[in-house]
Amino acid sequence: MGTCAAEMSKLSSSEGGRVKGEGKNPEASHPSPFTLHPSPHHAIGLLGGTFDPIHFGHLRMAEELAGWLSLDQVRFIPAAQPPHRSQPRTEIRHRVEMTRIAIEANLKFALDTLEVERDGPSYTVETLISLRAELGNEIPLWLFMGADAFLGLNTWKDWSQLFTLANIAVAHRPGYRLTQADALGDDLRESLQRHQAKDVVPDQAAGQIILRPVTQLDISATAIRTSIREGKSPRYLLPQPVLDYIHLNHLYLHA
Ligand code: ATP
Repeated sequence: MGTCAAEMSKLSSSEGGRVKGEGKNPEASHPSPFTLHPSPHHAIGLLGGTFDPIHFGHLRMAEELAGWLSLDQVRFIPAAQPPHRSQPRTEIRHRVEMTRIAIEANLKFALDTLEVERDGPSYTVETLISLRAELGNEIPLWLFMGADAFLGLNTWKDWSQLFTLANIAVAHRPGYRLTQADALGDDLRESLQRHQAKDVVPDQAAGQIILRPVTQLDISATAIRTSIREGKSPRYLLPQPVLDYIHLNHLYLHA
């Protein structure tokens, strides 16, 4: 991790800043026709992930949630050391680069390497505390996650503190149902009851949870890695430039 952090801070400083793609958005003053309400509050979406590799399930979910919430920006935050799963075998520099390639054509999407620059496990609560220090407490933050991630939220470090730091937008994901009575632990179900918002308050900085249907794409990074290892094609499950990068760097060929 020390090496990764050093490598990444070199990458960041040579490109001039941690968040890539910020401030270039011509739509900020000319809202897209697909945005129902121009956003006066500069709310930001956050999508953390292992991105091993990033795929259309991530991108489409971010696009739809950002559109529905009228967000100005979505930051993609690759987890250097995801704490709730086995460690990815793909070097963080590759996961960051694939993420950068995947989002570069979307002016609302930005890459944020803050978890790469930090040593230790990539706890979301620490990421949100850093973002609050950077952005202040007024700006609405929306933490995006798929239903699978939300089902395990009560195992995350200091998870109930997350509601004081951000709003949470949960996207439906094929194979995971939040509505089944036994799907959620008692503590998580109580939090959902307390924080679930029927009508979103756009200016509220934190504390709301929404569950949103998004276009259901049954795509996972695991299935993409497996298909490459087995010599099958994952084409059309992820952006072609990301697949080109994977081939160029001989990623996912071995178990
Ligand atoms: P893996 O298969 O390696 O576990 P993954 O495809 O689930 O990876 P992650 O990087 O772990 O991808 O996911 C980051 C976030 O994106 C999580 O909140 C996850 O729920 C969400 N997500 C991933 N794939 C989809 C999808 N197809 N639809 C909706 N959300 C998704």
